[in-house]
Amino acid sequence: MISTRAMKIKPSPTLSIDSKAKEMKAKGIDVISFAVGEPDFDTPEHIKASAIKALQDGFTKYTPVGGIPELKDAIIEKLKRDNSLDYKREEIVVSCGAKHSLYNAAQALYSPGDEVIIPAPYWVSYPDQVLLNDATPVVVQTTEADMFRVLPEVLKNSITKKTKAIIMNYPSNPTGFTYDRKSLEVIAELVVKHNLYVISDEIYEKLLYDGLKHVSIASIDNEVKKRTIVINGLSKAYAMTGWRLGYAAGSADVIKAMENIQSQSTSNPTSFAQKGAVEALNGPQGFIEEMLQQFDARRKYLISELNTIEGVSCINPQGAFYAFANIKMILGRRCGQWDVKSCTDLSMYLLEEAHVALVPGGAFGADGFIRMSYATSMEKIKEGLLRIKDALKKLS
Ligand SMILES: *Cc1c(COP(=O)(O)O)cnc(C)c1O
Repeated sequence: MISTRAMKIKPSPTLSIDSKAKEMKAKGIDVISFAVGEPDFDTPEHIKASAIKALQDGFTKYTPVGGIPELKDAIIEKLKRDNSLDYKREEIVVSCGAKHSLYNAAQALYSPGDEVIIPAPYWVSYPDQVLLNDATPVVVQTTEADMFRVLPEVLKNSITKKTKAIIMNYPSNPTGFTYDRKSLEVIAELVVKHNLYVISDEIYEKLLYDGLKHVSIASIDNEVKKRTIVINGLSKAYAMTGWRLGYAAGSADVIKAMENIQSQSTSNPTSFAQKGAVEALNGPQGFIEEMLQQFDARRKYLISELNTIEGVSCINPQGAFYAFANIKMILGRRCGQWDVKSCTDLSMYLLEEAHVALVPGGAFGADGFIRMSYATSMEKIKEGLLRIKDALKKLS
């Protein structure tokens, strides 16, 4: 028998689209994918070189469970430089990706019966990580009119005696929106007043457009900092998704618990990947700006094109590499055997009829939307949009 814990977890709703797209590609069908969640750039050479050197130098053994001191120091420097946050080594733990850091935090903090507030649209893994730790996800809705930011009064009304934490993600996957200092201040006040934890997933902090500057909720004041677990990683900013390297910063007791959990599951993150991460954080940062400029050009093109399509609208995202488009007007339309009643139906229709893969909003707790990643070439974006336009014209 499979455990009750494992039974609570549903297969990702994106999976059917994804496996279908892969199946089609394997058959030789030219599928254009807007479903990817990783930069389409290669890891910068100087970062690769430092990992290669580490391998050649024989840096191939176990390291301290929570990461090598050199990397912890690079992270401490980064948090000071970018986020005006001060941490000590015992307040940092390095893990096998930000997702792993999030999971360790969930293991360290949640007990059966705890409630964890998750604003929707949310990243797909949050509710399931809460469920895997026998706590209850409390999903609170946000609206497009509020740029998908959780309103303080909505947050306040969802706090109960059982609330343990709130999971924040800004800039957001899937919406691309972020919080400014003012709105973070209000949330921080509630967090302190109710003695909650904030899991602050800041993995897209470097991907902000129009000169916006990222503010971490932990930097609002010391009271909220004590209650915040800052989650970040190398995957998105340095195009290092396959390296599996992420980290958490927080109060020493929580970080120690996370490290203990890690010591009984994965042990240390990969030795030579850690050396690459040191170079990523301490080395030249020019790569990020170059990548950002390309993302920005694609963002502008994709959003303005989406808004010319009848029945589709998309507000301009502030960061990350996703367009979160409203397709509510299209629901209820038909074409032949296709009856598009949900965003999932629309995704299936576009995949089969237009050979375009994208993720239905339902996967993120937001029906009536689709998520399109622009971490793909301008050429593919243009061709994909043409296909989408043609397919949507056939619906009535
Ligand atoms: C990609 C992503 C992560 C996971 O990053 P890894 O470091 O590759 O595990 C975490 N949170 C969000 C919102 C993401 O989009």
